[in-house]
Amino acid sequence: MAEDLCKEALKRFAAQFGGDKPANIAAFAPGRVNLIGEHTDYNDGFVFPMAIEYGTVIVGLRNDTGKCAVLTCADVGDEPNLAEFDAPKDDKPLEPGEPKWANYVKGVIDQFDNGKGIVPGFNAVVMSNVPLGSGLSSSASLEVATLFFIEQLCPDAEERTESERALLCQQAEHKFAGVKCGIMDQFISVMGKAGQGLLLDCRPPYSPRLIKLDNPNVVFLICNTKVRHELASGEYNKRRETCKAAAEKMAKPSLRDASIHDLEMKKSVLAPDEYCRARHVITEGNRVIVSIQSIQVGDYKKFGQLMKQSHTSLKDDYQVSCAELDKVVELALQIQGVYGSRMTGGGFGGCSVTLVEKSFLQRTMDKILSGYPNAEFFVSSPGDGAKVIDLTTLGV
Ligand code: ADP
Ligand code: MG
Repeated sequence: MAEDLCKEALKRFAAQFGGDKPANIAAFAPGRVNLIGEHTDYNDGFVFPMAIEYGTVIVGLRNDTGKCAVLTCADVGDEPNLAEFDAPKDDKPLEPGEPKWANYVKGVIDQFDNGKGIVPGFNAVVMSNVPLGSGLSSSASLEVATLFFIEQLCPDAEERTESERALLCQQAEHKFAGVKCGIMDQFISVMGKAGQGLLLDCRPPYSPRLIKLDNPNVVFLICNTKVRHELASGEYNKRRETCKAAAEKMAKPSLRDASIHDLEMKKSVLAPDEYCRARHVITEGNRVIVSIQSIQVGDYKKFGQLMKQSHTSLKDDYQVSCAELDKVVELALQIQGVYGSRMTGGGFGGCSVTLVEKSFLQRTMDKILSGYPNAEFFVSSPGDGAKVIDLTTLGV
């Protein structure tokens, strides 16, 4: 997949920048889907995402002009597809600006360069098959692909660990895109492995742990509802505040430190919504741990049940689902070979994820389409994390 995307990107590079100086550096980084552990990240809890077999490639070439030119092949709406900016210098670091999409690229360059002026000018083409803004983390896949690209452009720079790379990309998104994202997307994009999910503790030192998830008879069906309700970001901030307030009233550093017993003991001091939100976070944290245990003994049925419970909890206790997500989940669950289905991501639209036996995949998609014709599907097993692509092996 990455290789095919790369071949396309090389063609676009030749068309944009001239075929006489072909790109000689390439990198790939995947998007992701969170399998269980929703709204636990900012409560210092556990998440369990997998890298998907969709991602972003960036191909390019050092140009020795002191200028950077990056073309994205994605649909970026009214913004220009070509971004041009000066390479960073020690006395003139990069700054975020227009087009906005390029801030994800510039942010990574800025964090990598760190005021040293070591990143040279280059030409590059970005090509992705992760849908933008649908909750499959096109943003982290762009950041991480950019980092793996820049590392090749600057081979003498300090070596970074996987965790350092993930945190660098998160900082890039905070500082240049102005999105205060958690750590999950960048960690899984850097560290994903085919046939494995990633158990990640969102409290430092994060302790990422790959978990085997390679049953050849099952596959994950991601269904994009293609809706995003306006209230999403306001409600997200409200949930964060409510969780913080609930943790404070329970005298815990965060909800991750609270048990169901603690919650019941403090029920009388919590407002009704604080109680329900906290109940979701606490039960969801437990579901992640039990999911890992189930997967490790090959009990996908149990894992599927936990996915279903997660959806119910997000819908009723956390109240971040919506009619469209409930619909696609409910339709999927009508098919016999479906183990579990749930909304994934922040909610109020975006995607659902369904664990289904391969032999029932088509039937499941047909069923969802019969009741929700606007559905867009992505089928994936746990995929590989970011990598350098050796262009000499592509045969182009
Ligand atoms: P998600 O990460 O879930 O896809 P975000 O809103 O976090 O959604 O990030 C989407 C934004 O990231 C896009 O609006 C765009 O600015 C940027 N982006 C992601 N992928 C690309 C790409 N291939 N080309 C240009 N911009 C991209
Ligand atoms: Mg994102």
